[in-house]
Amino acid sequence: MTEKIQAIVIKSSDKKEKDKNILLFSHEKGKFWATLKGVKGANAKMKMAQNPFCFGEFILEDGKFGKIVTGFESIETFYELSEDVEKYFEGTAMLEIVNSLNFSNETEQTGVFLTLLKSLKTLCFEKVENLYVLDKFLLDVFALSGFPLYTEKCTGCGTSAFEHIYIDYNTGELVCTACKNYSCEETSKNSYLAMKILNNTSLDKLKTVKLAQGSEEALLRVLVKNFEARFERRLKLIGILS
Ligand SMILES: [Zn+2]
Repeated sequence: MTEKIQAIVIKSSDKKEKDKNILLFSHEKGKFWATLKGVKGANAKMKMAQNPFCFGEFILEDGKFGKIVTGFESIETFYELSEDVEKYFEGTAMLEIVNSLNFSNETEQTGVFLTLLKSLKTLCFEKVENLYVLDKFLLDVFALSGFPLYTEKCTGCGTSAFEHIYIDYNTGELVCTACKNYSCEETSKNSYLAMKILNNTSLDKLKTVKLAQGSEEALLRVLVKNFEARFERRLKLIGILS
């Protein structure tokens, strides 16, 4: 069976001497591996299909040991990401996050696909501050997975008069001093404010946002910890959060 799908390359690994395995992410089929045969000898068009970030139309056929790519047409290579090391690490972190996710339904899968594509475009082509796109991406992933982290009110008692804000890492919820328990950690006012602003700003408006100095990094630590608690997966984010 031959099929044509639009997908993003999440990662690639060497298979045999000339072949590559690529992990693709499409909104119809989710994540799956496919083989790129004879990449070294292949034409330039097919060679591009081994690069992470690459978004394009793949023609796939069923082989003996899984899917084989027999055709590729690039839509967006996001090549510019490799020219800015900070953006490159931030984009790679988003791919690693998708790599670590297991989707529980199609709505979530489609939502994450569209958010990833939009986030890569914003990161690649807009003048946005370092880490803002990654913070927002994680907040969006939580919401799409049914565990939205940001709330205006304490999820325990409903008060909006937060004197101190705590995150319950058992449930991924924000609570007040009265509702906190042993698994809660206090989060700074600046991180909470950064979370609120990013949550309420759409990706195309992200370039107009300015967060308090250092709050994007403090927020990222909270988001990564919440991700690891929610999905029980360690995130290896290279070049980010030393
Ligand atoms: Zn409370």
